[in-house]
Formats: sequence, C-alpha cells, structure tokens
Amino acid sequence: MSRRRIAAGLLAGVALASAAAADPAPTSRSKAKSTSTPRGKAKVARRSGVAKANGNNMPRGFTWPPSRAMLAAEADCERSLDAAGVAWHATSRDGRIVDAVTIDDAVLGGIAYTPAFGKGPYKLDCQLALALATIGPDLAAAGVREVRFGSIYRWSNVRVGGKTKNALSRHALGLAMDVVSFVDESGREAKVARDYRAGDDLLLDVERTINASSSFRLVLTPKNDPISHSDHFHLEANPSYAVTPRS
Ligand SMILES: [Zn+2]
Repeated sequence: MSRRRIAAGLLAGVALASAAAADPAPTSRSKAKSTSTPRGKAKVARRSGVAKANGNNMPRGFTWPPSRAMLAAEADCERSLDAAGVAWHATSRDGRIVDAVTIDDAVLGGIAYTPAFGKGPYKLDCQLALALATIGPDLAAAGVREVRFGSIYRWSNVRVGGKTKNALSRHALGLAMDVVSFVDESGREAKVARDYRAGDDLLLDVERTINASSSFRLVLTPKNDPISHSDHFHLEANPSYAVTPRS
C-alpha cells in the first residue's frame, strides 16, 4: 500500500462532538510534555455498573512524544492493515494521534463506516483501524452492515456520568469512535438514542460483541453511562505500547 500524504484539516469530527467534553487547550507538539501526568489508576471498569474513568486514561506504555517502541508498534500495525486488505493512507497527525491514517473506501473488516452528520476524510490511529478491521467479521455475524458514527478524533477530556474528568480522552489519540447507529443487512437502522432502551437486539448483540473483544475496552452505552452516553456507543481501541513488537 503506497503511503501518500494527505492535506491536513477537514476534521469535521472536531465540530461534531456529540458527547461534548471540555477542551483542554490543544498543546502544540513542540511544547508537549513528554507524557501525561498520571493522577491515579487509569481504568474503565469492565463490569455492568457505572463506567469509571479517572487519572491517566492512556494506553499502557503511552508517552508523548511517541517512544521508539510506540513507533515500532505502529509500523507493525500498518503491516497488519496491509495483510487485512485495508485501503489506507498515511496522513498528518492531529492531537496525540501516534500514527494518523485515513481509510480510502471507509470499509473496515467488511463493514462500511459513514459519518452521521458531516463529511470526511476522518483521521484515526492505525490501532483503531486495525481493531475495527479485526472485529468486522464478528459485527457482520451479529447482522451489522454499516456503522454510522458521530466523531472519531477530537481534542477532549474523558466525559462520563455527566462529569468531565481530568484525563485526556482517547478521542484525542484517534483511538475512539462515537457511534450513533448501526444498520443491518435489511437496511434497518438501529439508533442508540431511540432503540437501545427498548432492548434492540442488534444493539445488544453489538455491545456483547465489542465487550468480548480484546481489541477494545468496555463500550460505553446508555446502560453503563446513561448521562453522558444516552445517544451513542463509545468504542475505543485498547493497544498496549508496553512491549516492543518483533520487527
Ligand atoms: Zn466517545
């Protein structure tokens, strides 16, 4: 897959923050601290109760600017995207996206990803693209044909339970996606805001599928975060940069 630089900008997702969180002042890369400050246990509890997110919300081994191990992990990720047949291009970095990519045909793992409001191109980290490519066949088995998302990258802090936390959101790393609806093979659109509370089978199957995947953290839904996630699913990839991948 050829690597071609694509012009920066056009980040409609920034303006689409459906779970709008307070924006810390974007830090230019040259001024960025070497790492975010750990302020406690970074954790989103994987249980059915209320989701918690406090302190350092970054993936294991994450530093800023990216370490050599992180860059090696991303190079490994790019090779995996190629092996999975994903049509991707490298693009310029925003926020703390370690390895920004765009997907040419907006298809990952056989599932079409379309913006619910704006227009692309959308930037995401290679690790989210790979996690979505990996879970694609499982989503298809659950009946999903298309995913409609509100935003991917945006510079914001974690927001759960109606409160903005003192922790950078993984949206700022290009690792998270807010999904407003899923479309099944018949063309029926299951909207999180409208259909989740009624026990929509497709939405519940998707929730179970993502929670069973080691590529993702706990999905935030109207069930585990009714205040801040009443109208969308928050999906986020869960890469670990703690170990240097084999080269
Ligand atoms: Zn989100």
